[in-house]
Amino acid sequence: QAKAQGRNTLCFFDPAMQAAASARSALEGDIRQGLQRDEFLLHYQPVVNAAGDVLGAEALVRWMHPQRGMVSPGEFIPLAEQTGLILPLGRRVMRLACAQLAQWAAMPHTAGWSVAVNVSAQEFRHPHFVQQVLDTLRESGASPRRLKLELTESLMLHDVEDSILKMQALRTLGVGFSLDDFGTGYSSLGYLKRLPLDQLKIDQSFVRDVLTDPNDAAIACTIITLASSLGLDVVAEGVETEGQRAFLLRNGCQQFQGYLFGRPGVVDLLSNM
Ligand code: C2E
Ligand code: MG
Ligand code: MG
Ligand code: MG
Repeated sequence: QAKAQGRNTLCFFDPAMQAAASARSALEGDIRQGLQRDEFLLHYQPVVNAAGDVLGAEALVRWMHPQRGMVSPGEFIPLAEQTGLILPLGRRVMRLACAQLAQWAAMPHTAGWSVAVNVSAQEFRHPHFVQQVLDTLRESGASPRRLKLELTESLMLHDVEDSILKMQALRTLGVGFSLDDFGTGYSSLGYLKRLPLDQLKIDQSFVRDVLTDPNDAAIACTIITLASSLGLDVVAEGVETEGQRAFLLRNGCQQFQGYLFGRPGVVDLLSNM
């Protein structure tokens, strides 16, 4: 922009940029305060098998903001990541999810349910990540075997050796690992072979038009086949119609998540399924 205005023009003040910057710092302050005031909560979205039985749920963070109302993660996770606030937020999420897991374990109807928690790159890279997860599990009394951590491709590629060590340390105790949004990142298949994963999640961008776009159908089917060849579970995300479910099931997918089965919601909704 400054260049287009001529060689000797320097752009010191851009009102639009200034406005964006102060909106961001206001939001940052709000997140900080939200953590102090305990405004973050989890919604849970069911994961079901081919028979429609609930296997567990994914925990999705929500922010009950005193003025803005319910804010979705897309609006604050990126800033939380940039400011380091994702670390206390992630610990809060882990504590809430493990507490829920312990409650489910205590009720016959939900005893076998697992919970999946999304983990940001910064959280995972933190040197105390493994210990913090173990501490949280111990404090809550939740079973590590019912906890799944959802990681993304880019997160693990940063330092593959370190990622593998951390995953192995947690897996020894039974914690499972899922590769979220699979197919949207840049991981090579060579890495996929080395990572101690349990599950791939087909990104919802491939599921959306799986019935109408042959490319999406090909990608979804390839991911299902790949998962099964590697001995991994596969979950389809963003399943909204019976047609999508039927197609994916016919092609070997056995686990589903999406509005067809339940929107993310407070835990009482889920417990009635
Ligand atoms: P994700 O982990 O891939 O989660 C799936 C997202 O798809 C969720 O959005 C969910 O509400 C939405 N979804 C589920 N079923 C359907 C469907 O049938 N159709 C459509 N169109 N969407 C569906 P949400 O809750 O807004 O979360 C967005 C992203 O924010 C998550 O994507 C995850 O990357 C991140 N996130 C959420 N909670 C946490 C958290 O506690 N920690 C971290 N680090 N990231 C989180
Ligand atoms: Mg996820
Ligand atoms: Mg996803
Ligand atoms: Mg996502």
